[in-house]
Amino acid sequence: MRIDILTLFPEMFQSPFNHSILKRAQEKKLLQINTINIRDFSRNKHHTVDDTPCGGGAGMVMGPEPLFECFDFLKEKNGGQVGRVVMMCPQGEPFSQAYAKELAKEENLVIVCGHYEGIDERVREALVTDEISIGDYVLTGGELPAMVVVDTLARMIPGVLGETASAEEDSFYHGLLEHPHYTKPRVYRGYEVPEILLSGHHENIRKWRRRQSLLRTLERRPELLQEVELTKEDKKVLLELQQLLQALKLEKNK
Ligand code: SAM
Repeated sequence: MRIDILTLFPEMFQSPFNHSILKRAQEKKLLQINTINIRDFSRNKHHTVDDTPCGGGAGMVMGPEPLFECFDFLKEKNGGQVGRVVMMCPQGEPFSQAYAKELAKEENLVIVCGHYEGIDERVREALVTDEISIGDYVLTGGELPAMVVVDTLARMIPGVLGETASAEEDSFYHGLLEHPHYTKPRVYRGYEVPEILLSGHHENIRKWRRRQSLLRTLERRPELLQEVELTKEDKKVLLELQQLLQALKLEKNK
């Protein structure tokens, strides 16, 4: 997969993509990340990319020219195609694991990072296919959101996580929150690893983990349960957990 990131601050991407899993993914050629400086496509003498808003008001708006020019360059480089173009935008569709899964199927992706008050609306109209928000808050620029998107979807690319980890077992992949994790030592400062995880009984461990996963989702994000495909066994466990939580609540209110 190749990702072209259009930004005014390419240096910001150097460190986050040069460590650990993302670094290895690039070395293994599973992922190619290019940063393109939008400023390089500014035609004016001072390489400015922004201007005051039409109609007045505070702040600066990123103008259309450098971005359209940048797309002309990308098109020419890629034989007339640019593929899917994602603009980072607080007004966009909320980002999710499902969205990342879908984007990870693309061979090429362009990500546009805004700054200041945002980007001239004509860029959105003419060039953008997707608008993504990473949450209901406003950051100073699209660089951090772009890093979040790239990191999340990189984990979905086959081979990126290697054999030791699987994205499928993570929270949200199949709709539930994941079960808790433990490692050695067995007892640390009096806190113990649950006995069942040391039993070596794979089926019992699987059942415990599934139960914990259902419990966590029920307690922390119950709305997720509406979207998950539950087995007959899951439904039985959930009912039991709901009754248990209800009883605990009543006990507490006594
Ligand atoms: N004036 C814009 C508004 O109110 O919708 C906000 C502009 S923001 C200060 C500058 C840039 O940061 C945006 O163009 C976008 O690229 C990025 N950005 C800020 N918050 C974001 C979020 N929650 N998700 C994705 N991108 C965001």
